Amino acid sequence: MYKIAFFDSKEYDINSFNSNTTEEFELKFFETKLTVDTAILAQGYDVVCVFVNDAINKDVIDMLVAQGVKLLALRCAGYNNVDLEYANGKLPVVRVPAYSPYAVAEHAMALLLTSIRRIHKAYIRTKDFNFSLNELTGFDLHGKTVGVVGTGKIGRIFINICRGFGMNVLAYDKFPAKDSDIKYVTLDEIWEKSDIISLHCPLTDETYHVINEESVEKMKKGVVILNTSRGALIDSKVLLDGIKKRKIGAACLDVYEEESNVFFNNFSGHIIEDDVLARLISFPNVIVTSHQAFLTREALANIATTTLGNVKQFFTENKCDNEVVYKPNN
Ligand code: NAD
Repeated sequence: MYKIAFFDSKEYDINSFNSNTTEEFELKFFETKLTVDTAILAQGYDVVCVFVNDAINKDVIDMLVAQGVKLLALRCAGYNNVDLEYANGKLPVVRVPAYSPYAVAEHAMALLLTSIRRIHKAYIRTKDFNFSLNELTGFDLHGKTVGVVGTGKIGRIFINICRGFGMNVLAYDKFPAKDSDIKYVTLDEIWEKSDIISLHCPLTDETYHVINEESVEKMKKGVVILNTSRGALIDSKVLLDGIKKRKIGAACLDVYEEESNVFFNNFSGHIIEDDVLARLISFPNVIVTSHQAFLTREALANIATTTLGNVKQFFTENKCDNEVVYKPNN
């Protein structure tokens, strides 16, 4: 019997894991995030399963190891929230490298269309029987240039979707794909030539605040910025400033650098402490979804089956194909 303690579990996690599990697993779902204060709940479990906003730092790793936890199973692809260097040799880490890249790429396009065709405004208007079209003018995607940063699983699907709309695609990747028909350019060319910029690279020391004062300076006036990857790829204060100065035409954010304090929770009726997030949300040309891009039936089922498969393989074969191996700078 593999005993797994889940942290930051939501109704949709519980439903998808319960409907994909077998008798070999004992699952316990905790609503709380995994922190130094809550790590004690993992006592007696072989595996701890976490999501994107659980911070697995040195203290948490020490506590889990001291309590006999043998495996950290991320039910997500990104692992920037784990101190991998410290975990190395103490607590093996496995992840779900791909659950539905389509879900994320399609959400990016949904955000883009919503924003530039003012659907978020029109929806509210017609609900109130206001059928005026004033200030709802958008622009065609056809013929526009989109700059894609990161051409992995999600970036490539997004590129294909954009091609379907007749857009010109420019791309940048630290490790460009060989034998592909993707037109790679420098990062500076992405900033200078794109009408729309979409981020699909991981968050690393190198990509932290890749959208900053200097890169925004190089961008076209009116550029639309999409981020469905990780919040800290963008310096949020620079984004806010760029929108106020009318340099940035719109922003579509599924992620936000300080999201761990707010996303996945209901704060309606509360006072939000984060002034940058509150101001961003107040702009008519900013759309925020709360790390929702992955949330499709298909992705949830894949997350559950891959996570349970990772646990089983780790304990039966003493290895896991989806182990996150620590490499300096990964
Ligand atoms: P992937 O590993 O398939 O692709 C990432 C690409 O980024 C690779 O081609 C890699 O070479 C490139 N890259 C690495 N370092 C780079 C750098 N410094 N500059 C530019 N490119 C660089 O990953 P993926 O499955 O396509 O996912 C991309 C990101 O999407 C993940 O890292 C994760 O942060 C995010 N994500 C978000 C959600 C969501 O719900 N919003 C869900 C899944 C993944």
